[in-house]
Amino acid sequence: MAEWETIKLPKEMVQKIQEYTKTEYAKERGYTSKSQVVVAAVRSFLQTEQKIKFNLRSKKYNKLLPFRRISTMIFCESCNSQICEHTIHLLKHSELFDWELIEEGSTLAEAPKFLK
Ligand SMILES: [Zn+2]
Repeated sequence: MAEWETIKLPKEMVQKIQEYTKTEYAKERGYTSKSQVVVAAVRSFLQTEQKIKFNLRSKKYNKLLPFRRISTMIFCESCNSQICEHTIHLLKHSELFDWELIEEGSTLAEAPKFLK
């Protein structure tokens, strides 16, 4: 059985959650308590925010380029950008990788056919 802890929320937010649980829509979806709503919301948030760090061994830049994936978005760790030259370079090679299967700390390599 799961243990529970108490966490503070703004009263106004708790009132909105309470109002939501009283709607037919919430009942149809199985949300009858404030805790159920908060657990579902936090679970969804954590899935979206989950960061996976990985590297690309790049011949073009002659170094390991560090990236992080957050949900379906890819960021360059060096530039903290989704649109820098490194990210664009990585995405050019994206057909080689399955983003869903990239593991924390893994290193990807460019395929020989892409090397200059
Ligand atoms: Zn970059």
